[in-house]
Amino acid sequence: MLPDLERLIRLQSLHTTADDARRRIATIPAQIDALDARLDEQRSALDTAKQQLETNQGSRRELEKEVAAVQSRLSKFKEQLMSVKTNKEYQAMQKEIATAEHEVQSFEERILEAMLESDTLAAAVKDAEASLAAAEADIEAERKTIEQERGTCEAAAKKALDAREVLAGEIAGKILGLFDQIVEKRNGVAVVEARDGLCSSCHVHLRPQVLNDVRRNDRLIQCEHCGRILHFDAAAGAQPAADA
Ligand SMILES: [Zn+2]
Repeated sequence: MLPDLERLIRLQSLHTTADDARRRIATIPAQIDALDARLDEQRSALDTAKQQLETNQGSRRELEKEVAAVQSRLSKFKEQLMSVKTNKEYQAMQKEIATAEHEVQSFEERILEAMLESDTLAAAVKDAEASLAAAEADIEAERKTIEQERGTCEAAAKKALDAREVLAGEIAGKILGLFDQIVEKRNGVAVVEARDGLCSSCHVHLRPQVLNDVRRNDRLIQCEHCGRILHFDAAAGAQPAADA
């Protein structure tokens, strides 16, 4: 194989490794944001549950105040009942007492309802606290994994870029310039395999003469369609050839 072609194949491989690592690193901020959003969701669920419990306790305190007021009115009526002079006054007082007793009963029912609701709401707060704690642990672990991966990818990218620089030093300026130009224009891929009679990147059919030349791997041949540099891998090409 032409030494420059062999170097370009390795250069492409390093370039792809660095690109993949950088692409992976670029997705990390969105992943971190998604973790933060999950955590926010759990926190706000807990806030809501706490708020509902507080509202319930507040209205229960109000009801207790109101029932106390009615009860004190009721005791006054009962005292006054002793000192009424006429039957008419007595009946009017009895009516007031009945009304107040009815009110007390109705408040007590509402207080009982609020107490039952409070148990449910307190349980919901406990559940939300447990969910938040579980989510915090999960998310922390995921965050660590992502950070480890970031480190691994950064190291891989650096290693590939360092090796690329060394290798680039061994390639003639003109050839390297061609490589860089194609990489830039063609989405980071400048060197590709010819496989099954096609350019494996743009899938255009190669003319038989071009294919024969590419098979020799002894000079730089660009795909007539996409301009990428072609090479032929005898090991990979053997299988389809045997089938044909
Ligand atoms: Zn092509």
